[in-house]
Amino acid sequence: MLLATDLDGTFLAGDPQDRLSLYQTITAHPDIQLAYVTGRSLEAVLPLLADPTLPQPDYIIADVGASLYHGETLQPIQPLQHDIDARWPGESQIAGALAGLPDLQRQDVPQARRCSYFCTPERAADPALKVIAERLGCDLLYSAGRYLDFLPRGVNKGSSLLRLVEHLGLDPEQVLVAGDTLNDLSMLTCGLKGVCVGQAEESLLEHTRHCTRVLHADSPGCGGIIQAFAHFGFLGVHGFAAETRRATEPGHAELVIVYHRLPYEEYREHGQVQRRRPSSPNGIIPTLLSFFADGRKGSWVAWAEHEEGEGFFESHTTVDAERYPRLTAARVPLCKEDIDTFYKRFSKEAFWPTLHTFWERAAFNEDDWQVFLRVNRAFAERTALEAAEGATVWLHDYNLWMVPAYLRELRPDLKLAFFHHTHFPSADVFNVVPWRRQIVGSLLQCDYIGFHIPRQVENFVDVARGVAPLEVLGQQNCAPRFVTYGCAVGLERVTTAIDTGMRQVRLGAHPVGLDLDRVRNALASPSVQNQIEHLRCELNGVRLVLAVERLDYTKGVLEKLRAFERLLADNPELQGRITLATICVPAAREMTVYDELQGQIEQAVGRINGRFARVGWTPVQFFFRSLPFEEVVAWYAMADVMWITPLRDGLNLVAKEFVATQGLQDGSGVLVLSEFAGAAAELKGALLTNPHDIADLVQNCHLALNLPKSEARARLRELFDIVAFNDIRRWGDEFLGALEEPRMDIRAIA
Ligand code: UDP
Repeated sequence: MLLATDLDGTFLAGDPQDRLSLYQTITAHPDIQLAYVTGRSLEAVLPLLADPTLPQPDYIIADVGASLYHGETLQPIQPLQHDIDARWPGESQIAGALAGLPDLQRQDVPQARRCSYFCTPERAADPALKVIAERLGCDLLYSAGRYLDFLPRGVNKGSSLLRLVEHLGLDPEQVLVAGDTLNDLSMLTCGLKGVCVGQAEESLLEHTRHCTRVLHADSPGCGGIIQAFAHFGFLGVHGFAAETRRATEPGHAELVIVYHRLPYEEYREHGQVQRRRPSSPNGIIPTLLSFFADGRKGSWVAWAEHEEGEGFFESHTTVDAERYPRLTAARVPLCKEDIDTFYKRFSKEAFWPTLHTFWERAAFNEDDWQVFLRVNRAFAERTALEAAEGATVWLHDYNLWMVPAYLRELRPDLKLAFFHHTHFPSADVFNVVPWRRQIVGSLLQCDYIGFHIPRQVENFVDVARGVAPLEVLGQQNCAPRFVTYGCAVGLERVTTAIDTGMRQVRLGAHPVGLDLDRVRNALASPSVQNQIEHLRCELNGVRLVLAVERLDYTKGVLEKLRAFERLLADNPELQGRITLATICVPAAREMTVYDELQGQIEQAVGRINGRFARVGWTPVQFFFRSLPFEEVVAWYAMADVMWITPLRDGLNLVAKEFVATQGLQDGSGVLVLSEFAGAAAELKGALLTNPHDIADLVQNCHLALNLPKSEARARLRELFDIVAFNDIRRWGDEFLGALEEPRMDIRAIA
């Protein structure tokens, strides 16, 4: 069958339960074809196509019948469109003929092959309008007591629908038409079965009162359509009763964490899966685990490697029966190939560069996207089975972007929260992603979305605004917590809530914090103290400029090396007195995108050392390896200057770890931080630098080396206060706290 339905007031209206039931029924029945028949233009239909809770139409009849498109490709349906185009005089002809007529106001919405005006009933009855329409070869249509449309002659919703039905060779008896205003009249009186949904326009009801094939339903919107399905016997008697049952029965977890990694590490030994404590580089996993320490029922959804046919797969494991007695890990089985595609290749090659504004490095591959969707669906299905009725689901990072879309459909009752761990770029950059509508449509299914800093929140709003019409419900000042105009990623005001028309989404900035005890414990350990002493001896009075970063083009490693070369060349007195030590963590071997950068770095290091080195002094000491956290802390403790220069970074934890290490020791190391790192919006007291400007890099490093001790100490105290107060525990508490805030608060802020 074909359901040909008007949108506003009909398919998009009605009781939420009826809407869900109708949408799910259509999605579940491949033999129901769907046509949107709407007064909207295609452009105004696009936001609906991005909404994953709505079934995708097979056909779109837009512009009150004047435009016909294939739902999947959005290409015109030919030759039907061609015939209409031949009859349209052109927008400017009509606008010109009507210029100067009073009480006519052009509707400022997208329009094609039609001109739409607001007008009073008196003006609509004016014979002069009819004369103009006649002369231009147009039809006039007046509806809802305010919309006046000029359309190509003979074109309306009904005529276009009939032509489509004929074109597709469909049985007219298998078509159901639904509408609610007078511009749906032509569809309802063209001989097809139809329904005027509840609360339809009075004059539509009058005009169809004696049509035996048109049902006047009681329920508004989708409820009325469901009544019509039963009335006309579509789907048989039990069609809807069967569909309205739950897609998934609820599970038991009150809080579900969905993270790409398990809270413990799995490795294989002699073909057996073994477990060990996570060697997570930061405190996020222990913090997330701590929410289950009070005995809260919980589940942690993550992937685990499993080949099909490999034998028994343990879908659930305990995490730590003593500390988190009611937490289980729910493992999503992925084969090695899917892991490599999803995680190592696609996420890193398509999304990572785009998110960090290196869009020209991004490679988009449709097959990989299909794997991404499949994996995200598996995560959503597993989560739907875990979560209790009304539970909170906390999703993490861009690998899981599409989970909300699937999950919202499976479990509309859940409270969905998403934390984005990387940078989020502005629309100019993000819009290069071929699947941007699906991604944003999915994220907008969440109740709460968190980013590190306000700039990233605002960038998301900017991107979302390009996908769907948004109303900003609330904003707040970023100060005093965040830098406003003082750095490249600063902002004065930030959006706290938006309305998408379908739901309200709240937004917030939550920079990830540190587990200070981890740094404290490292400093207290005798081995770290030994390492500090050892470094002190080795450095032998040479001042240490330190860099700690992953091998990645976002981190500005080459820019820093070039600046260091210039610093030594311009300031010969520094030669022999400073050294740049860089701890650079190599990428996994499969990530070949980093090979070229590694070669360039090695070359630059060789060049600088070749140019300046003397017996007993190496200008650049480059360590291409990952050190244990404790050892990194020893380096932080010894650094005179911490030089962090990412061209773009979601946050940068290294900056905070340096501050913590120095602060706990009452040190006077100076933090020079890229103003493009998210942490720059938070870490007041750092010397900010622009890594895109070599002169600025040189100048700030020089300044840091010459900063009076008293100023260095004061800056560090200011920084330490921020890092110590906003620790990882506070991050987690504030995020979950914000999620729990009652909805009414949004209006209060607005
Ligand atoms: N790190 C480490 N060993 C090393 C170098 C770095 O454990 O040899 C850790 C460092 O302590 C920090 C993390 O790696 O916690 C890097 O985090 P950051 O947010 O700075 O950068 P990201 O890698 O997330 O872009």
